[in-house]
Amino acid sequence: MADKEKKSKYAYTKKSAWKIFTKDQIKKTFDFCEDYKKFLDVAKTEREAVQKINEIAKNGNKIIKINREKAAAIVVPGKKPVGDGVRIVISHIDSPRLDLKQVPLFEDSDSGLALFETHYYGGIKKFHWLTIPLAIHGVVVKKDGTKQIFTLGEDENDPIFSIPDLLPHLSHKVQDSKKMDDAITGESLDLMVGSKPTSGKDEKIKDAILEKLHKDYGMIEEDFVSAELEIVPAYKARDIGFDRSLIGAYGQDDKACAYTSLCAIMELKNPEHTAISLFVDKEEIGSEGSATAQVATFLRSVIKDLDSKADIDEVMLNSKVVSADVNAAVTPNYTDVFELKNASSLGKGIVMSKYTGHGGKYSANDASAEYVSEIRTMLNKAKIPWQTGELGKVDKGGGGTVAKYFSRLGMEVIDLGPAVMSMHAPYEVTSKVDVYASYLAYREFLKA
Ligand code: MN
Ligand code: MN
Repeated sequence: MADKEKKSKYAYTKKSAWKIFTKDQIKKTFDFCEDYKKFLDVAKTEREAVQKINEIAKNGNKIIKINREKAAAIVVPGKKPVGDGVRIVISHIDSPRLDLKQVPLFEDSDSGLALFETHYYGGIKKFHWLTIPLAIHGVVVKKDGTKQIFTLGEDENDPIFSIPDLLPHLSHKVQDSKKMDDAITGESLDLMVGSKPTSGKDEKIKDAILEKLHKDYGMIEEDFVSAELEIVPAYKARDIGFDRSLIGAYGQDDKACAYTSLCAIMELKNPEHTAISLFVDKEEIGSEGSATAQVATFLRSVIKDLDSKADIDEVMLNSKVVSADVNAAVTPNYTDVFELKNASSLGKGIVMSKYTGHGGKYSANDASAEYVSEIRTMLNKAKIPWQTGELGKVDKGGGGTVAKYFSRLGMEVIDLGPAVMSMHAPYEVTSKVDVYASYLAYREFLKA
């Protein structure tokens, strides 16, 4: 009844991006997302993302600078001097997953299995990771410094890996009656990697796996100590729904933003200000580390490369930043945790968040009204669908992005990115129109 009432012409209303986009834009949306899905399949880890970003930048003759194989910056010099400030879109290329421990391999003789110990990375719901197909991605650096690269479980002929779970017949006491977070422990997330013992009369499954690893990869057990092996879902990105309007894939937080900001900068020619798309690591564990958003040294060196005499502080004070990260989509059956007037939903365009944080905006970047107005006007002028979004009700939780690390440098920063359903799950869902709107928004921002 209420929604039939005519709203005041002065009211703010959210519209479906499917209604705002033209027929031509909707066709482009579907085409764009075909390539996006391919990117998701080959860039599941930060190292793979950097490799793919580098390849695309080099093919398009763009300036790219890489930091430790885990962060990258693509730069397009502008008409104005660097001292007038730069435009940066920053996204992160790490996603929640399971890492291997340093001494991962063991044999469980009771179950007759060889398994890997894991240590989860980022905010996961542990039960999501049981009994699904998993792949191993990453690098092993051997004692002589040579690198063995792993991508095992992606090809249809590859083996995959999986974490076992208890059958429902026996799980009542040990799992079902417990609090969800206690039911599955971090230590129980052990990956099945084999079950066939060595030949001879001693049945040694672990030894058989070590022999296999040595034969196939020239590895010894100690090599795991200097490895970064990441357990990720072996799923491919797929369309969801009869109408194919949604995308299901691992790692859309934050590759949805990484890919769209990559495409945006690849198209850029002669922007007004110098444009930078920046891709960083370890956002999911607090942006600590040498290839993260907290390390301004990399950005400084990118600016120095453009103009060795630039006054870096002046450049930063004059710069504008879009923190390109995903927001939470209103979730059916759980609408109670959202304040629906201020929550984002799938298909309503890119989400603009003035602030993030938790509780009383604790630890938030809170963009200035002037900057929000500028971004809002930019989106409206270009007819790019957008909505606002806050991560849940005020006292229900919250979260942060890399925005604060850049505002700390004296830059104007705002959060802008698509909504994601089932964020941090092994299979996250986005709407195709939101992905396309994000690409259009970053392109519009970078060319100014
Ligand atoms: Mn994120
Ligand atoms: Mn995240």
